[in-house]
Amino acid sequence: MTVAVRPIAAPWRRFHLYSFLIDAPELAIVDTGVTASAAGVPGELAKLGRRIEDVRWILLTHGHIDHIGGAYALWEATGRRAEVVVSEADAPFVRSRRAHVDEALALRGDRVGREALEAKKTAEALEAISGEFEPTRLIGDGDVLDLGGAEVRVHAIPGHTPGAVAYEIAGQGDVFVGDAVQSYGAASGFPGYEDADLYRDSLRRLQALEPQRMYLGHPYRRKDGTPFPVVLDAADAAEAIRGSLDREAEIRAAVARAGEGTPSDSPYSPYQQVAEELGYTGDPTLEPAPFFTSIHAYRSR
Ligand SMILES: [Zn+2]
Repeated sequence: MTVAVRPIAAPWRRFHLYSFLIDAPELAIVDTGVTASAAGVPGELAKLGRRIEDVRWILLTHGHIDHIGGAYALWEATGRRAEVVVSEADAPFVRSRRAHVDEALALRGDRVGREALEAKKTAEALEAISGEFEPTRLIGDGDVLDLGGAEVRVHAIPGHTPGAVAYEIAGQGDVFVGDAVQSYGAASGFPGYEDADLYRDSLRRLQALEPQRMYLGHPYRRKDGTPFPVVLDAADAAEAIRGSLDREAEIRAAVARAGEGTPSDSPYSPYQQVAEELGYTGDPTLEPAPFFTSIHAYRSR
């Protein structure tokens, strides 16, 4: 059985989010966008001749707000009949809005004002997350899900978040990677990961899978700054994975050369030397601030 996949655009602010429909005998949606964008999903499905009531699987690649925010609303729209699938490690972000606030404070609270960040993240979680609930299925590496005859394999690919997973439609080389293949980054022009070594290991793992088609959560950029499409063919998938490995190595080397960092008036402070060495001129303060999250991933090793 060959199963078709359709992208579903889920616009939110400056983020270009994408969900995907897996048009299996049991319909599945990969990632959900946020409250506002999820409201548009039933209409997008209708254009494809499918009904939200018939969706039986909501597959979450990781716990970030722009991927799980619409999960509760979409689960409700299925009459709570869909399985909501996420890894154990990222499940707290489905259960609780506060988990998103605590994570931001842990990653960046020491650098920016804690109170301002807490207020901003609390408001954002309230707006973007449609509800808190217990996911119906916790999955891990090697699990296989049966979508009514089409099999989906789970691959643990931690690094971007601790519980990031890829979903592979078995036998046809379609791989959904969420945000685990960042290449040269998205809007902020910098790749974001919480653990650099795991990010690298996971990229190697995806490389070994040799995706025939790879699906990204956002249009990440090539080295020359042009965006990849969100549905990549085998050649683009290989280029995006290679670009991600190259950029990670460049950042790793620049961080090692820069050492501790020195506080200054630079918006990149205390890592202005890292930005300089990389020729990075993007806005480092744009939340979720991948510049600081990723450098923190090396400094905290
Ligand atoms: Zn993410």
